[in-house]
Amino acid sequence: MDRPDTTFSLAYIVLSLCFVFTPNEFRSAGFTVQHMFSGWLGSEDISFIQHHIKRTTLTLIVHCFLPLGYYVGMCLAAPEQNLLYIHHASQGWQIYLAVSLAIQLVSCALAFYWSRQGWVNHPICKALSVHALPNSSWRAVASSINTEFRRIDKFASGSPSARVIVTDTWVLKVTTYHLHVALHQDCHLTVTDSKHHSLSPDLNTPVQIVTITVASINPRVKSFDIRLKSTEYVELQEKLRAPIRNAANVVIHLTMSELFLDTFKSYVRMNDVYRCPSGQEPEPCIGCMQVNANVKLLRLCHDDSECQLCFCRPMWCLTCMGKWFASRQDQQQPETWLSSRVPCPTCRAKFCILDVCPII
Ligand SMILES: [Zn+2]
Ligand SMILES: [Zn+2]
Ligand SMILES: [Zn+2]
Repeated sequence: MDRPDTTFSLAYIVLSLCFVFTPNEFRSAGFTVQHMFSGWLGSEDISFIQHHIKRTTLTLIVHCFLPLGYYVGMCLAAPEQNLLYIHHASQGWQIYLAVSLAIQLVSCALAFYWSRQGWVNHPICKALSVHALPNSSWRAVASSINTEFRRIDKFASGSPSARVIVTDTWVLKVTTYHLHVALHQDCHLTVTDSKHHSLSPDLNTPVQIVTITVASINPRVKSFDIRLKSTEYVELQEKLRAPIRNAANVVIHLTMSELFLDTFKSYVRMNDVYRCPSGQEPEPCIGCMQVNANVKLLRLCHDDSECQLCFCRPMWCLTCMGKWFASRQDQQQPETWLSSRVPCPTCRAKFCILDVCPII
């Protein structure tokens, strides 16, 4: 590790991977193409399509520069390899430089080709022109999308590397290198998969990620997958104003959790209530931040049970507590759910459904 070229190589590989796949820490530090070249890319809110045409083109060029950038860095990090004078360098390095240069040249040539005649060859423009009316161009579609993207009532979700945007007439998916576009009236949405994570990385709540395939009846529009949290599913459905079909195996899973949540709530309402000490205002639920915390864990079941004392102040709402409770269960054995014990989401003291007290 004390050799500068080894250190440089490791650091360059890690930084390159972080730059291409952009973990949240790098994103918030502004280490993205979108942030670093924001001046040239223009505002996404003002001209959404033009912004993403430029962004995808620039992303391609910048990512294709990474192999060449390594060579340039090695010229300085390993002067003994004589990389600055390529005819003195070893054959391996000569081949590496040739391949890196070729990758960079191809990407620049492709970007140049895309930009000809007002970007008409760019994959995004080609995808838009599929939706253009006869005698009009991709620009008409772009201005329709731009206008609808500016409205505040659009649906926006998904991870930063695969954003999902649903406007009044369009379903859009923004990825690193492309923009998928489908027209509401042309597309069928089908739930194809769902994954349950007991804890999402950003919020301390259980989360279910639903995968939905967007397929268009227009044969020139390629189908694509969108992923979003199950809690956003209803909002998406309202925005689409069209039913989302469910593949059979997913329906069971979805309704099971929803069904359990209702059961959980009705059982909790039968429990003793907890009176907040005077002066203690309930805080917003730390799971959803939508409503105030309205349950408190108190050990009220039989003395000889395995339940433990929880001293946490009320931090969760009934829905989030129910979702937490459901997420800690064996998904294959729903019959055991009501009788099981789960740890308090904050202090990990075990509790059962009898110990969840509504707050008044
Ligand atoms: Zn607790
Ligand atoms: Zn909540
Ligand atoms: Zn208990």
